[in-house]
Order: sequence, then C-alpha cells, then structure tokens
Amino acid sequence: MAYHDVGIVGGGCAGLFLARELAVRGCDCIVIEKDPAAAHASTRNQGWLQSGSFYAAVDDAAAARGCREGFDYITETYPDAILREVESYFLFRSQQGLTGTLERCRREGIPINAIGEKEIRKIQDENPILRGTPLDYMAQVYDRPFDTRHLLQTVADEVASCRVEPIEIASLDSVTASPKNHEWIVNVGNRSGIGCRILVLACGAYIPELLERITPEIPLAVEITKTPVLVLRGHQICRYAIMMPLEPGGLNLVPFKPIEDVAGISVCLSRTDYPIDRAGNDFLPPKTPEAFAASLEAHLPGIREVVQASSRRVEAHFYTCQKLKEKLNGSSRGPLAQYYEDWRLGVFYPGKFTSSPIAASRFADDLCKQFGKKTVAGSGGEPLRVARQRYYDQADHRVEVTGGGVRFQLGRGVVE
Ligand SMILES: Cc1cc2nc3c(=O)[nH]c(=O)nc-3n(C[C@H](O)[C@H](O)[C@H](O)COP(=O)(O)OP(=O)(O)OC[C@H]3O[C@@H](n4cnc5c(N)ncnc54)[C@H](O)[C@@H]3O)c2cc1C
Repeated sequence: MAYHDVGIVGGGCAGLFLARELAVRGCDCIVIEKDPAAAHASTRNQGWLQSGSFYAAVDDAAAARGCREGFDYITETYPDAILREVESYFLFRSQQGLTGTLERCRREGIPINAIGEKEIRKIQDENPILRGTPLDYMAQVYDRPFDTRHLLQTVADEVASCRVEPIEIASLDSVTASPKNHEWIVNVGNRSGIGCRILVLACGAYIPELLERITPEIPLAVEITKTPVLVLRGHQICRYAIMMPLEPGGLNLVPFKPIEDVAGISVCLSRTDYPIDRAGNDFLPPKTPEAFAASLEAHLPGIREVVQASSRRVEAHFYTCQKLKEKLNGSSRGPLAQYYEDWRLGVFYPGKFTSSPIAASRFADDLCKQFGKKTVAGSGGEPLRVARQRYYDQADHRVEVTGGGVRFQLGRGVVE
C-alpha cells in the first residue's frame, strides 16, 4: 500500500491550490479526483475575480478581506487569466447604500470610486443592454472577469511538476475512507488502499456526503444549495461587469473571458440559493422560469433592443451550480478554512475561488507544522488535466432571448 502525508479528495481550486502549497513545502501528498479535474464549481462559476468590494457592500468584512488578498495574489501571479479591458461597476438604489459601501471598502483597503452623472450616461450610451435600467447611484470597482479554467490548468501543471500524484477515479462514489491506527485508509475503486496521515476533504458540494460516509459520528449542520445562473452568448452584449449589491433579486452581469469563438455574459438573476436535495436534483424549482423571465426583462429592458440589433441570434443557457453553505460545525477559523482539531481530518472549503489561494497557503502552513516540513519538492510529475468543456453547453435548461420576450425551454418542457 502507498503511504502519503496528506490525501486530498477533490481537485477543484481548493484541492489544487492546497496540493501546490503542500508540495512546495515538501509535504508528500496525493490528489484524488474524478477525471478531469476542476469540472465542478471551480470552472462553472461566474468567473468573477472579486476585489472584495461586493462583500464590503453586504457588510461581510471577513469575506471582503479574504477576497482582497486573493485578488492581489491572482492579479500579480496569473495576469494572463484576467480580462483587463472590462470595467466594472456597482449599482445602488440609494445614496445611503453607496456611501456605506465606499466607507467599508476604504476601511478594508479595497479600491472603489463613486462616479458622476455624466459618466453614468456615457456608460449607458455605450452599452445598449443597460438602456432603460436605472443607474442612479453608481461606483466603479476593480473586480474583473477571469478565466478560471486557464488559471487552474496552470496550477495543475505546477502541482504535477512538484511530483504530486493525481489519482483519477471513474466515479465520485468510488472513494471510501476509514481511520485505522491514527491513519486513514482510502479505498479508490478497484485499487488497493492508499494510506495517509491526514485526510483533507476539498470536494466542494460533496463534502457533506463524503463526511457522512466516512465519519457518521461527526455532527453536521450543512446545507447544499444551487444557484441558477443564466449564460447569454453573443458578441458585444456587455463590455461592463455590473452588479447590484443589496438589491433583492438584483442582477449581476459578468462578461466572461472569450474562449475560442465565444463571448457573452453570465447573469446571476437572483441572490437566492435554492436548497438542494441529496439526490442532486438539478432542475429549477417549480415556477421559477416565469420569475426569471420577468426578472431578466425587468432589470434589462434594453435586452430586446440588443437582440433585435444583433446579427447573430442570442442564445442562453441556465446552469445551476451546487454550493456548500458555510455552516460546518466545529469551526474555530472562520469560513475560509475549517478543520477538525485533532488534525487527522481536514475540511477545506474556501467559499470563493478568489480567496482560495491565500486560504490554501494558510491551511498548508498549519498542516505542515504537523510534519515540520519546509523544503521544496523536485519536479517532473504526470500532467493533470483540467476540464475543458464549455460550461454553457452542459446545461439542459435552454433559453431563447427573442425580440419579443424570453422563452424558457427546460429539460422537461417549455414555459413561455
Ligand atoms: C453559481 C456560482 C457562481 C460563483 N461565482 C464565483 C465567482 O464569480 N468568483 C469566485 O471567486 N467564486 C465564485 N463562486 C464560488 C466558487 O466557484 C467556489 O467557492 C469554488 O469553486 C469552490 O471550489 P472547490 O474546490 O471547493 O469545489 P469544486 O470546484 O466543486 O471542486 C470539488 C471537486 O471535488 C471533486 N469531488 C467531489 N466528490 C469527490 C469524491 N468523492 N472523490 C473525488 N473527488 C470528488 C469534484 O469532481 C470537484 O472537482 C461561485 C459559486 C457558484 C455556485
């Protein structure tokens, strides 16, 4: 049986950043992942490199700080993954909302500028999808769209070059683990067991399921939710990233980095996370298509104009993405890195892609104290592949954005 210091289950941003941080500290670890890596939340999110301003707007200082640190790190370390030419703005419904956010951003060292009426009109003129949308209180922020797949492939290459062994499994169900003599024995499909001193669960929305399987005695209070996001494809739909902090049901528009021949925006139409059942129900809750259609048109009356003027037909897809609510019991470290005190079982869920590299580095420091490791590992491991699929092609919830309205076609029927 192969033995390792740390076994990491999950190769999304949490698992890959952690593996790299452990490897460069000389810790012997493995990553167990369904082939290919990063096929879940880490490449199916909105691709929004958050400066922390959004969390300052909603008065969550810890998340704001975590994002600011991750933002600085990613901006400096992976400049090629960032879409710099996109400017980003927040819309508020009141002067109070704007002023409070400016103050909180300044307190956390997050860059932000209030902008005047003249600039607002210019933005609206240049950006037809925003015509008819009220933009009274607006601030420029420095959040940017980024290509998480590109970034993670670089991290995966770094992980492989540190000789971290990736173990590819056919199914997520094929991992079981049991504690034995102060070690974990992980059984992966048909292979013989893998021994590790510390087991880290970095498997995102699947953490509760795996914890339940391997440590039924640990009490859990977790909720898995899904967030529906609409991805609109079309060239020049929106040059700006726009968010409406604190607006109930408010939208955010994030232009995603063009991949191959595709450009467009992702629209998060609702800030509500829908609870999900353990069976992994991936359908939208009843009646939401109409609600989403109404929400899209209420916030973006300009959409009809854009669609009519567009030479290409604008297609859209819903996708839902599972999210683990940060409510694990036993946390002494806040939401970014949570783990159990006896150091044999770790749970690592960074909550945001943006905050994950810094959270991983801190977690790795803590883990390595257990081994007294500080050296740098050699190079030349097997390559790790990150998911390359286009996420908007995966969802079966189709939407046609036509000149006269929005028509939703779900996997099981059509709602107009
Ligand atoms: C809709 C949505 C939009 C978001 N937008 C943003 C954004 O714009 N910016 C931002 O910074 N953050 C965003 N986030 C948050 C961010 O995407 C997540 O916090 C982050 O990707 C979580 O990474 P992870 O590695 O923990 O999970 P995941 O990326 O889900 O990785 C978990 C991995 O574990 C693997 N796995 C699961 N079970 C097993 C098993 N039994 N054995 C082996 N492997 C297993 C899976 O295959 C998967 O690859 C968004 C989240 C959602 C839901």
